[in-house]
Amino acid sequence: MSADATHQKRPTVAVLATGGTIAGDTADATQTASYKAGVFSVERLLSAIPALDGIAEIYAEQIASIDSKDLDDALWITLTHRVNTLLMQNNIDGLVIAHGTDTLEETAYWLHLTVASIKPVVLTAAMRPFTALSADGSLNLLNAVTLAAHPDAVARGVLVAFANRIHGARDITKISTYAVDAFASPESGILGWIQDGRVEFQRLVTRAHTMQSVFKINAIDTQYALPAVQIVVSHAGASRLVVDTLVNARICGIVVAGTGNGSVHVRLQQALADARARGVAVVRSSRVGSGHVMRNGAAPDDALGLVSAGTLNPYKARVLLILALTHGWGEPVMLQSLFDQY
Ligand code: ASP
Repeated sequence: MSADATHQKRPTVAVLATGGTIAGDTADATQTASYKAGVFSVERLLSAIPALDGIAEIYAEQIASIDSKDLDDALWITLTHRVNTLLMQNNIDGLVIAHGTDTLEETAYWLHLTVASIKPVVLTAAMRPFTALSADGSLNLLNAVTLAAHPDAVARGVLVAFANRIHGARDITKISTYAVDAFASPESGILGWIQDGRVEFQRLVTRAHTMQSVFKINAIDTQYALPAVQIVVSHAGASRLVVDTLVNARICGIVVAGTGNGSVHVRLQQALADARARGVAVVRSSRVGSGHVMRNGAAPDDALGLVSAGTLNPYKARVLLILALTHGWGEPVMLQSLFDQY
């Protein structure tokens, strides 16, 4: 084959569908709040985008058909296994996952830490169902495939293509319940943009991911119950009831979504200290939605054996804590070093 012919070969992108609004159906095209998520098949979604033909050869697979609010551990494990298997194949150049927006940020970060490949992995989604007026899913999917097929997307960890923007898996979070431009990467900003077939990166991802990640779940099958980790919120009038109930139910880890700089109501803080004394791993994050939690700032982490989530929001802190506990790394010093690295 001549060098020219090699250049002209279209890349192959695997598209895995999991459901979500991107595959959603609404009885009335003007209604974008009440509809059923995860109705249409991946083939149907792809057939609405003839322009894909000019970008990549597509290999499609339906992994699930759920509303992502109902996502559970088994789907995360399945996705990691499937993504790693597909990306090991020489004939797959990149991979796209169509997902619901509600828990997209959690799945993106899970894969960021458990996929072992430098090939692009791009999540995308939609805020308007497939059958709604001005549905956003098809253009998001086209952009996601464009990104997954692009050489500049290699070795940047898991990415999200949404509303023409490229976000990093670690920083993206959903910030609107209804707006089409529903995601942001607070503080750190987007990584770049995609428009009219053009891909441009403006920033690098600095924390460890994919190939540098120490988290390996190859040996874990979908029946395996990941360590139980729950999120508890601190608020005016908070009590110790939820934490005590979780400890009695033998919880492995708790992420507290603190107020402000991860500050915790005095009653809740005492309950968390008691939980820690009984061997529960406790991570302090913030419910604010941007900024970092300073270690030993609003709570005495050293004295209580707590861990600061840094810039990870509570939902992503939960993902990292689950993975750490899966590997048996629940002690505060080890845990803190993981939270500082990932
Ligand atoms: N509830 C839907 C989901 O997460 C919302 C969406 O996809 O926009 O599956």
